[in-house]
Amino acid sequence: MNNTAKTPSGKLLDNSKGKNTHLLEGYDGQDITVECFQLKEILSIMGLKPIMGSFQVVAEDLSRIARKNPPWTAKYIHSAYFQYPACRPSPRLSRAINALWQRVKGEFPGIAGSVYSRILAAPYQVPDGTFVPVTARVIKCHNPGCSVRFIQTNPAQLYHDPICKIQWKKIRRRKGVL
Ligand SMILES: [Zn+2]
Repeated sequence: MNNTAKTPSGKLLDNSKGKNTHLLEGYDGQDITVECFQLKEILSIMGLKPIMGSFQVVAEDLSRIARKNPPWTAKYIHSAYFQYPACRPSPRLSRAINALWQRVKGEFPGIAGSVYSRILAAPYQVPDGTFVPVTARVIKCHNPGCSVRFIQTNPAQLYHDPICKIQWKKIRRRKGVL
């Protein structure tokens, strides 16, 4: 047993003190289930907070992996996450959690070399660590004097906001350009 590190190794503990082979030593030294440990890591790596909306996302991914239809519910994943004793994950869910955990710990194609950039967005619209594909076109707003750069949501979009388009039209009209 590793007594030096406080963080879990992801390996099963030896069984010197207990009979529960599905238990791991958690971050705080408390025993946690393998599923709970893996779900915590999955949420953390995916940048998700332990809220129902996140469990919905994970439930959908897990169901996709296990080809489960109807999908598992967010509530069920939530129960596994918080280790509700009455709600032990089924073997099928355990396998799916393990598979998803392996996947999120792996490398994702196209991500290598990308860096964090600070962006402006409406609250909660763009979660931290959201990947912007290299094909996304970043342009400066076509309203002269507006310094906003933005990711186009369609190729015809030239202004970061409709108001900028109207403003620039008014200015041109005033100058007699139009
Ligand atoms: Zn603008």
